[in-house]
Amino acid sequence: MSVQVVAAKMAEVELKDVPAVKDSPAGSPMTPTSEGKTLVRNDPHEAGSSAAALGLLNPNPAKMPQASAMKRTDPQQNGGEAFVNRDGTVAEAPRMKKQIQFADQKQEFNKRPSKIGRRSLSRSISQSSTDSYSSAASYTDSSDDETSPRDKQQKNSKGNGDFCIKNIKQADFGRREIEIAEQEMPALMALRKRAQGEKPLAGAKVVGCTHITAQTAVLMETLSALGAQCRWAACNIYSTQNEVAAALAEGGFSVFAWKGESEDDFWWCIDRCVNVEGWQPNMILDDGGDLTHWIYKKYPNMFKKIKGIVEESVTGVHRLYQLSKAGKLCVPAMNVNDSVTKQKFDNLYCCRESILDGLKRTTDVMFGGKQVVVCGYGEVGKGCCAALKAMGSIVYVTEIDPICALQACMDGFRLVKLNEVIRQVDIVITCTGNKNVVVREYLDRMKNGCIVCNMGHSNTEIDVASLRTPELTWERVRSQVDHVIWPDGKRIVLLAEGRLLNLSCSTVPTFVLSITATTQALALIELYNAPEGRYKQDVYLLPKKMDEYVASLHLPTFDAHLTELSDEQAKYLGLNKNGPFKPNYYRYGNAFLFSSYFDRPVGGSRDNRVKKETNI
Ligand code: NAD
Repeated sequence: MSVQVVAAKMAEVELKDVPAVKDSPAGSPMTPTSEGKTLVRNDPHEAGSSAAALGLLNPNPAKMPQASAMKRTDPQQNGGEAFVNRDGTVAEAPRMKKQIQFADQKQEFNKRPSKIGRRSLSRSISQSSTDSYSSAASYTDSSDDETSPRDKQQKNSKGNGDFCIKNIKQADFGRREIEIAEQEMPALMALRKRAQGEKPLAGAKVVGCTHITAQTAVLMETLSALGAQCRWAACNIYSTQNEVAAALAEGGFSVFAWKGESEDDFWWCIDRCVNVEGWQPNMILDDGGDLTHWIYKKYPNMFKKIKGIVEESVTGVHRLYQLSKAGKLCVPAMNVNDSVTKQKFDNLYCCRESILDGLKRTTDVMFGGKQVVVCGYGEVGKGCCAALKAMGSIVYVTEIDPICALQACMDGFRLVKLNEVIRQVDIVITCTGNKNVVVREYLDRMKNGCIVCNMGHSNTEIDVASLRTPELTWERVRSQVDHVIWPDGKRIVLLAEGRLLNLSCSTVPTFVLSITATTQALALIELYNAPEGRYKQDVYLLPKKMDEYVASLHLPTFDAHLTELSDEQAKYLGLNKNGPFKPNYYRYGNAFLFSSYFDRPVGGSRDNRVKKETNI
């Protein structure tokens, strides 16, 4: 089926108002607006998208290579011995001397902008990169060569010099990293195979600004396999994997990024991507809105040729909705952040996996039998609780919302107030997106050796500022691990200074990023192939059917066999056999956790959106 046919199918849409953003912590400058728009079909059972047109929507995709488990060592977290004793007392960290280097780092650390996770280190104007949850780990050290990449003459083995990276000699190493990532990104690999013949992105000139990691490289190489030309910069000054950038440059990609860019470098790299003779982008793939912002500011005429923007992050999406509200959005944009699959995987499953990793890498703590209190039983809290329960921890939950509280009870957790357990727990984890959940009073009452960390977006869930008082001593014992010591010798173990633990101290599973990257690729295909008029100058959610398709592409990894509706059953349910299978307001409950995705007790943005989508 041709793209034109798909386009015709997609004409059956109407626009309805919906609110925009989730995940904004209370009181944050990113508080959601309610003016966004999204795409709702007149007939939810009628399929139709560019992906469908490209024959991509077969519910039984070809069997993909099995994912293989990869274990990597982060040189920064050099696996030191435990320093929290069994009885809860804290021993001197045996590697303290070696780790004394972190004392300097602490100074540096304190100077950094107080945002979240690795992306907290971004000095981009928007600080945009704080809210997308891509893996941003780099395994290379950028300090070995102090010469700025901008001052170097660079060429790859084919003599091409249209890139600026740290060190092209690392290309082989980077290629291995990309190959490892490919194994956990089955959907992109499947897309490559399935759509290669069609080249749905032929003629697309994609300018991208995302974390430059092995996972992004798999996305870029997929876009290229589908016919796109790509120029790329990093959305964060610290997250670039230099070796991956080298592999991309060696492979002919115009990539402008290195780990440890200055702010000036950051914008210079973005500018090098767009300000090039004889090449103009017609698609934008952004993570945080900096690239979009730059083009708006410096090269507004470029928007005449740009067919659409695909945006991943909460912040970037929020800005797009603001532009849309102000009538200044001059091209259609896709809000990838709010796709069901992305949300589900980022919040619930990603946190279920990475909470243990973050705690283990920083503290080497044993989970079995430990008493843990998890504040907030939303998606993130549910993920954390499930993981800890499975490891044999005794898990308490705090909640303000009776529905989530009841879910916690039904899932077998003790619902308590924080002050009831604060003296006895070994680990405190905040997952509320709220502020001042763990205040100084609680920190004072914690027992010796208690580990305190945050999994929510905002670094104000734990009142870290209240710990910066003269009577308390701070000791940096490892990267991202501080002992805060009371005058009587009691210590608490504070992780990542209260910033997002998993993003600061561990990596995000590649499989999670695979979901996001596939959604991004499909959004690009959709916007690029959409006929004139299908999308207005507004912000859209990816059509539900594409969300389903993203999920279906990941099923073969598990050798999962999807049941097909019979004609009779489809008729009985009033569904198209090929989907979409659920209405927009459907709550994707989790069989194991009984979570409900669209119920957003905090902020209410989803509740509103659901109402608007369904015209309730
Ligand atoms: P959610 O709204 O589903 O859950 C938050 C829960 O906290 C709600 O049930 C709410 O009732 C509860 N809550 C609010 N204030 C509370 C308080 N004072 N005490 C106890 N409970 C309270 O949100 P979510 O999807 O679970 O996300 C939570 C946070 O995690 C957000 O800030 C989000 O941006 C962030 N997040 C982090 C990651 C990550 O990788 N670490 C991934 C996705 C989202």
